[in-house]
Amino acid sequence: MNIYVLLKRTFDTEEKIVLTNGQIAEDGAEFIINPYDEYAIEEAIQIKEKNGGEITVVTVGTEESEKELRTALAMGADKAVLINIEDDVEQSDQYTTAKILAQYLKDQSPDLILGGNVAIDGGSGQVGPRVAELLEIPYVTTITKLDIKDRQVTVVRDVEGDSEIIETTLPLLVTAQQGLNEPRYPSLPGIMKAKKKPLTELEIDDLDLEEEDVEAKTKTIEIYLPPKKEAGRILNGEVQDQVKELVQLLHSEAKVI
Ligand SMILES: Cc1cc2nc3c(=O)[nH]c(=O)nc-3n(C[C@H](O)[C@H](O)[C@H](O)COP(=O)(O)OP(=O)(O)OC[C@H]3O[C@@H](n4cnc5c(N)ncnc54)[C@H](O)[C@@H]3O)c2cc1C
Repeated sequence: MNIYVLLKRTFDTEEKIVLTNGQIAEDGAEFIINPYDEYAIEEAIQIKEKNGGEITVVTVGTEESEKELRTALAMGADKAVLINIEDDVEQSDQYTTAKILAQYLKDQSPDLILGGNVAIDGGSGQVGPRVAELLEIPYVTTITKLDIKDRQVTVVRDVEGDSEIIETTLPLLVTAQQGLNEPRYPSLPGIMKAKKKPLTELEIDDLDLEEEDVEAKTKTIEIYLPPKKEAGRILNGEVQDQVKELVQLLHSEAKVI
């Protein structure tokens, strides 16, 4: 089975976000594999263990993403592909990423593509479904269970706390939800082996794409932090007086009634 995993290198949201000149300062910040993509990698490994096949992990990013790709190789992926857009793409969005990934994948004959349900930084949850649409293959999002028998696939997906069972066929794209599995840590032999596994670097030229083909469809106007929460205020006195004061404050200060 020809398995592909879409991996995004993300800003660790445990980090304190600092804005410098209206941009999120990345200097010294910790970057990680998007946690939902770790479920996707683990699932790919378990499928390979059962059904055989090859796992390629692919990212659209910069040279810095090599570290996260090597981690995926150390977990058990066989090959990695970095589509480096640093020099060619000035403004990128979900359209850009999906277009590049689909252009790469369309020539690879994937049986199964696994991605994360959502990236913890950008957080749109758009890339997976967009890639499937471009490839004209079915997709199922937020999956918590995946069973493959021959080309028949049974998927359980999380629908805001409830479960839905879907039957479909390969080729298929799925996006991983928390609970799908317990991602493994890379072992020491895995880390050693990963150093020798193939990591191919491509640019959009190699995919017959021009800068105009992947131009972002959205524009970020402003990035700002949420307003600081003000301290609460405690009203004193008789309950009736407190209610009167509260109503008056909601009217005159908070201006919500
Ligand atoms: C060099 C560079 C420049 C950028 N410039 C901008 C910019 O100017 N403005 C802006 O808004 N954003 C920019 N980005 C960010 C990028 O466009 C978005 O973060 C990206 O489109 C993913 O969207 P999302 O975070 O909403 O992902 P989601 O759709 O929430 O991610 C869901 C899943 O899709 C897959 N996925 C997402 N992104 C990638 C990826 N890059 N490679 C492989 N799989 C992926 C993963 O499986 C992930 O779990 C830039 C990124 C790079 C690398």
